[in-house]
Amino acid sequence: MNPEKLLVKMKSNHLGIEKHHFHTDSYLDPHYIEWAGLEKNIKKAAIFYIKKSDLSCFIDKTTKKNFFFDVSDFAFDDKTGKIMGSQEKILPDCLVSVYVSKDKDLCVKLKLLDRKQQLEKDLFGEIDKWDVFFEIGDLLGYPKCCSEFVQKVYSKKEFEEDARLLSGCLDDETLLPILTFKENTKKNSMLNNFSSLGPKLINFFVCGYNCKNALKLAEETYDYLKEKTGDSRKIFDSLKIPMIFFSSRKIVYFVGLEVIKEKIHYSGCFSRKEFIDQSEDLKKILGILDQGDSFLEKEDGLDVFKNDVKIAKIKKHHRYSGIYIDFVQ
Ligand SMILES: [Zn+2]
Repeated sequence: MNPEKLLVKMKSNHLGIEKHHFHTDSYLDPHYIEWAGLEKNIKKAAIFYIKKSDLSCFIDKTTKKNFFFDVSDFAFDDKTGKIMGSQEKILPDCLVSVYVSKDKDLCVKLKLLDRKQQLEKDLFGEIDKWDVFFEIGDLLGYPKCCSEFVQKVYSKKEFEEDARLLSGCLDDETLLPILTFKENTKKNSMLNNFSSLGPKLINFFVCGYNCKNALKLAEETYDYLKEKTGDSRKIFDSLKIPMIFFSSRKIVYFVGLEVIKEKIHYSGCFSRKEFIDQSEDLKKILGILDQGDSFLEKEDGLDVFKNDVKIAKIKKHHRYSGIYIDFVQ
């Protein structure tokens, strides 16, 4: 079955999940976490990543909400992740960073700090770079314990080796959530930050999936959503869906799950359209899982079974790829 068909298939009402639950933009402002933080005074300032072609529309909205803003003089190419400096031509679909705050000076301050962090990446690990990192975290309202966790990971020898071995295919969005997940026994789904797209209640790396400080912020976002829309429950439910995590842009979700003798049985699987469009590999993986009815996670990959007969193996690209994730709370 092809992935497009799978997406349609997932409308089937296991767990009451429908396809549109994964397209927050259809019923929410796509930047609801940032607006929640700013409007509820959790954040002193926020960074919005906006397509250059949508910039004037976004600035209009920001001004109407009585916030100040400043715009980066660099941009991200969303497809390659490459940073385009001010000397290069910034194309309309590149993402610029917009710094928003009720305090005009903080917009300017955040712009300067962010420029330093984004364009001087080779300084990472040096003391002044971490000062910048913590200062940005403070402005954006991130818990100090969570920022300290990021610093701790980067100073680990183990990560240095991974970074060298896997440069290119391992990013922060993949490594940090997995490391946190493996360390925790208690996992609160309100802190599920595994998807780079998709619904979330927080958008920072957490020191633990039971971090009280992070949880307080997630609850604030949830309350904001409750005030703005009657659909907040959908996000809550979607954060509990079990998944196989390959990277923050390559995730397979499961419905009708049951664990029998370590083997995970499922009645259906699906992914987000945005992920499928970006990855041929994900299409193949979905195709394999759709043929099967259960899987077993092994060191080197996932064994896929149909009626207890092994039909395929999905190999891991590295040890942080293809990990089964299930938030219980
Ligand atoms: Zn924390």
